[in-house]
Amino acid sequence: MKSLYVPTLKEDPTDAEIASHRLLLRAGMIRKTASGVYTFLPLGYRVLSKIEAIVREEMNAIGAQEIMMPALQPAELWHESGRWDDYGPELMRLVDRHDHGFCLGPTHEELITSLVRHELRSYKQLPLSLYQIQVKFRDEIRPRFGLLRSREFIMKDAYSFHASQESLQKTYDDMSVAYGNICDRCGLEYRPVEADSGQIGGSVTTEFMALAEAGEAELVYCSCGYAADTEAGACHPHPTTYEVKGLERISTPGIHTIEDLAAFLNIPATSTVKALSGKDADGKLVVMFVPGDHELNEIKASRAIPGFTLLTDEEMESFGLHKGSMGPVGLPEGAQVVADQSLGSIAQWVVGANEEGFHYVGAQPGTDFVVDVWADLCVVKEGDRCPVCGLALESARGIEVSQVFQLGDKYSKAMGATYADENGEEKPYIMGCYGVGVSRTLAAVVEQHNDEHGIMWPLSVAPAHICVIPLTVGDDLVQPAAENLAAELARIGLEVAIDDRDERAGVKFADADLIGWPLQLVVGKRGLAEGTVEVKLRRTGEKKTLPLDSLTEMVGFARRNAKHSAAGYGMFDNLFN
Ligand code: ATP
Ligand code: MG
Repeated sequence: MKSLYVPTLKEDPTDAEIASHRLLLRAGMIRKTASGVYTFLPLGYRVLSKIEAIVREEMNAIGAQEIMMPALQPAELWHESGRWDDYGPELMRLVDRHDHGFCLGPTHEELITSLVRHELRSYKQLPLSLYQIQVKFRDEIRPRFGLLRSREFIMKDAYSFHASQESLQKTYDDMSVAYGNICDRCGLEYRPVEADSGQIGGSVTTEFMALAEAGEAELVYCSCGYAADTEAGACHPHPTTYEVKGLERISTPGIHTIEDLAAFLNIPATSTVKALSGKDADGKLVVMFVPGDHELNEIKASRAIPGFTLLTDEEMESFGLHKGSMGPVGLPEGAQVVADQSLGSIAQWVVGANEEGFHYVGAQPGTDFVVDVWADLCVVKEGDRCPVCGLALESARGIEVSQVFQLGDKYSKAMGATYADENGEEKPYIMGCYGVGVSRTLAAVVEQHNDEHGIMWPLSVAPAHICVIPLTVGDDLVQPAAENLAAELARIGLEVAIDDRDERAGVKFADADLIGWPLQLVVGKRGLAEGTVEVKLRRTGEKKTLPLDSLTEMVGFARRNAKHSAAGYGMFDNLFN
């Protein structure tokens, strides 16, 4: 690839833990510049541009208009929304020579709201959807997995402005369809899931999860079609009662974990109750109770008790609590008891006795202690009941590639962004925002499409459709034949690369598989003597010898008659049938 700059690596980079990170480095597509900061090399950039083009087409198709906002954003706007303080250390902040504060945009709600508030004055101008494809900055606490979680990354972000909830709902639905199309067209197996809105705000939101073991997100799903991020999903545990005759304090020496307690009493973990201590916004003690086989979801916990944070070991000591033997009976004066709503279904609890080495069995809510707040507190997991149909949920890991949000008037209200309705009354816009992680999508595609030899790009996003591999270069037979073939194929509209490096055949074959060209055409002296070329389909590894003089025609025919999938599979399959 004299004409292309593709510095492939023979060895696996040591710091790359997952396939996409390893293969993108090895295939010469990206290079690390700093922790979480990457350069796209020519082939990586070609793939990125293809994904961008798909995103652009899908956005334009639903009437969103492309703009380009600055990455550098004045701090004042973030003060207006309140996020200068709320966003935390992920926000990359800087000051200019005049001491004016700025940030490098992690997202653009503030900037776009300040832009349109001066321009969109009447209901007649609504709805409006604007988008951009741009670099974003987030000083992630743990940048990792290459492009999956980086500190500088490419995002498509769209924002919509409405005069009614119905209008927002329509755009939200259109965007959701477009986001599904983007995943399909990039060849991703994905699921839309119920999600949590986190930093952005709003309440209705869906994440699009590319299914992958390496994904940092966990999702639960059901055969009825329900799916949710475990960060957000409603949880319906089914605790079981261990019935005894009333409250009994038992000695449990050395027992601090649910597993040990369940084994000691010879009962299932579902019959135990786990306690977690924390404090509310005022620093007052709050103890939360969840079924022993479930974990506390801290997002839900802070929704039930605003400002809730878990206590450190020292804080627990200062409240006189005993880690591993906490319970609702005999808590310090003024402590709030918050319990998962599922625990309402069991009459007797197995809990700590707030005394080292002791537990209670048969503790009854309402009799032995009072529950102040009942709430959904648990992280949903495999086997829990589906909130829609009641069947057992299954679980999978995923990469969040995109997310759509209904923001409502959070930003427009805070920033005084209003329009005049039919009666001339000023109202805040109703807004939606929609983000696609373009560079993360690229990595997700590799995560789903690879084997032991390298990447297997779906045709729709491959750096080129075909690579022609001359086995000798600089001669007057093989190289010209290869160049001719490449030119002919390009003439019928295919994207063709040519590996004209002076390398051994073995190196070229290995690199072609590593890079993941969908179709490889090997041109060698022996084949040419017989007028043939060896053709290899990367996705299946199938090989076939085909006549050189009709190859272009055959490829053209295969393409015209292919049963196309969204990701363009099928284009070359006919060559092998
Ligand atoms: P995460 O939960 O993974 O940190 P997020 O929910 O904070 O992501 P959003 O604010 O929803 O991210 O941003 C929209 C999209 O931008 C995400 O769906 C994701 O694809 C992408 N994205 C977010 N953070 C990163 C990152 N650090 N590196 C690469 N892509 C990212
Ligand atoms: Mg998100």
